[in-house]
Amino acid sequence: MDVLKHKPDLKKLTSEMNKKRLDEVEIMNQMVGSLTGYDCKICRNKGVVYVRDNVTDEVLCKKCSCIKKRSTYWRMQKSGIESLFDRYQLVNFKVTEEYQRLIKNTAISYIDSKIHKTADSPFFFIGGQSGSGKTHICTAIAGQLILHGYQARYFLWRDESTEIKAIANTPDYTKRVGELKKASLLYIDDLFKTQSGKLPTSGDIHLAFEIINYRYINYLPTIISSEMLLTQIIEVDQAIGGRIKELANGFIINISRDNRKNYRLK
Ligand SMILES: [Zn+2]
Repeated sequence: MDVLKHKPDLKKLTSEMNKKRLDEVEIMNQMVGSLTGYDCKICRNKGVVYVRDNVTDEVLCKKCSCIKKRSTYWRMQKSGIESLFDRYQLVNFKVTEEYQRLIKNTAISYIDSKIHKTADSPFFFIGGQSGSGKTHICTAIAGQLILHGYQARYFLWRDESTEIKAIANTPDYTKRVGELKKASLLYIDDLFKTQSGKLPTSGDIHLAFEIINYRYINYLPTIISSEMLLTQIIEVDQAIGGRIKELANGFIINISRDNRKNYRLK
C-alpha cells in the first residue's frame, strides 16, 4: 500500500532532528562573550557552556571551568596587582648576580612542586632588603600557579591587616580571616610591615598566627614575602617563624640588608 510505502523513516528523522538540535547548541556555544581577564577557548569568554540533556532534551547551561581562573583575576584586579602579572613574569626576572639566580631557581622548583602536587613544602618564603625582586618573584609565582588552576588570594599585609584588626570581634572578621585561611593559594605580601616601621604589635602577631597556623595544619600553599629575615620573624614570634621555617623547607631565601650578595638559603 501507498501509505505504507511513504511511511517516514522515523529513525532517520529522529537523527536529523537530533542533529539540528545539536547544531542549535553548537551555535549557542559559538557565540562570543564579553568576559575579560582570561581568553577561554572553551566558552569563548561567555563563562558558560551549553549542553543538551539526553534524557529531558533540555538545553542546560553549565558554568565554564575558566570562571575559577577569572574570579582569581578579578580578585587580583581588586587588590590592584592585576597589572603586575604582565610586568612581573619569570622570563623577565633579572639574573645578573648569583643571588638572583638562586631566587629564580628556587621559585621555579616551588612552582614545579605545586603544579605537580608533589609532597614538597607548601610554603615559599623570601625575606630581606626591599628592591631585591621580592614582589617580582612572588607575583610571578602567583601568576604561574593561577595559570595552572590555583585560586590565589592576595594579602597586602600592611593595608589589609589594619582593616581586619579594626573589625575584630565582628562576624565580618571571621568571614574575612576565613577567606585568607582557606584560600587555595595565599600570597602574603610584606608580612609584618607596619605603617610607621615599628615592630609588629600583639594584634599583628595574633592575626598572623591565626592565618599561618591554619595553613600550616592544612598544608596549604602560601607565598610569604617580608622585609624581615626569617630569623627576625622567629625573634618576633617563635611559633610563626618556626612554622614558616618548617613548611618552607627548601624554598627559603634570605637576602641580607647590608649586602645583597650576601644571601643564604636555608
Ligand atoms: Zn571558559
